[in-house]
Amino acid sequence: MFYRLRHDFHLSIITMLGACAVFGVTPFAIYRLYSGNLAGALVDLFILFTICFTVAYAWVTGDNRRSGFYLALLSCAGGTAVAIMQGDVGIFWLFPAFITSFFLTEPRIAVGLNLLAIGVLAFQPVVFDSQEQMLAFVTTSIVVSCCTYIFAQRAAHQRRRLEMLATHDPLTGVKNRRAMEEDMAAAVSQFTRSQMDYALIILDLDMFKRINDRHGHAVGDEVLVDCARLIQRNTRRNDCLYRFGGEEFVIIMPGVKPAGVRAVAENLRHKLEAELASPSGAVTASFGVASLLGSDNADSWIARADGALYQAKTEGRNRVVIMARRQDASPENDTGAPPEVVPLL
Ligand code: GH3
Ligand code: MG
Ligand code: MG
Repeated sequence: MFYRLRHDFHLSIITMLGACAVFGVTPFAIYRLYSGNLAGALVDLFILFTICFTVAYAWVTGDNRRSGFYLALLSCAGGTAVAIMQGDVGIFWLFPAFITSFFLTEPRIAVGLNLLAIGVLAFQPVVFDSQEQMLAFVTTSIVVSCCTYIFAQRAAHQRRRLEMLATHDPLTGVKNRRAMEEDMAAAVSQFTRSQMDYALIILDLDMFKRINDRHGHAVGDEVLVDCARLIQRNTRRNDCLYRFGGEEFVIIMPGVKPAGVRAVAENLRHKLEAELASPSGAVTASFGVASLLGSDNADSWIARADGALYQAKTEGRNRVVIMARRQDASPENDTGAPPEVVPLL
């Protein structure tokens, strides 16, 4: 639970704002109930129930987008209903609602919800004592919404940038090792749930140091960028490419069966050999391949692929080695013993 709260920014916002709203609204619901304002108390209780339900929905389904939208809609609609029922005293509830909607949903949707609430209230003469009060409300709410919109846009942009910097390699633009570790963990748990096939290819450019030594680091960098582009052009949309480090790349391929993985890797090896070049000529790569097995965790999965890569290097480079287990690796047949690893040449 704490892990999800720490790592899922949107879920933590939904949970904390939900908790704040519950603490903020509950005393008023109790007060209204005891002071005989049954309609007001019922609105409060409905709001409380819906907040709790929506936060629970976000936790169970992981659908933060929809939950955030419902909460923003609820806070604007609830604030508007309270203002219509209570008159000018209720209007104060709308200002926190206008601000929190930007934390809960996309800025453009939040601005739309706020404008809708402002528009609805502006045409409710019972809410305001005077025309001047109504104009003051409309103006201040639009100012609050505009300021929060600008702030939310900037914050969203910064967050996207930070996420990009944390998960992508600056030279090639492909995902980095940190992102790869997260995606591998997700693949392992997906495999446990649905037995969906995954193949992992680790490839290392052959004699890359020579390119740097002969032509300089900048040329080496260009070869790395070309290599990443070439791999992306020759893999499917669902396949994900990562720069593992230096001149090593990893590709995670969902839905590739063990029987088909050699053809995929060989095709990629041929493409690199034919199209990747430095000023000295063709650049080749060695490939280690491992399909995800029932007994694997992320570490053992990549270790098996790395073992295959090592073998490809020692056997002369520019080749594909596939690592597999001798016995069937389905969980039912798993004896718990360490897997026996054999390279399939
Ligand atoms: P092998 O076939 O055994 O893999 O030989 P190799 O020369 O490719 O392997 P080695 O590990 O000896 O050299 C890898 C080189 O990659 C060394 C390092 O300077 C270079 N390298 C690592 N990162 C970068 C980078 O970002 N840019 C450039 N230009 N070179 C890099
Ligand atoms: Mg190398
Ligand atoms: Mg290397």
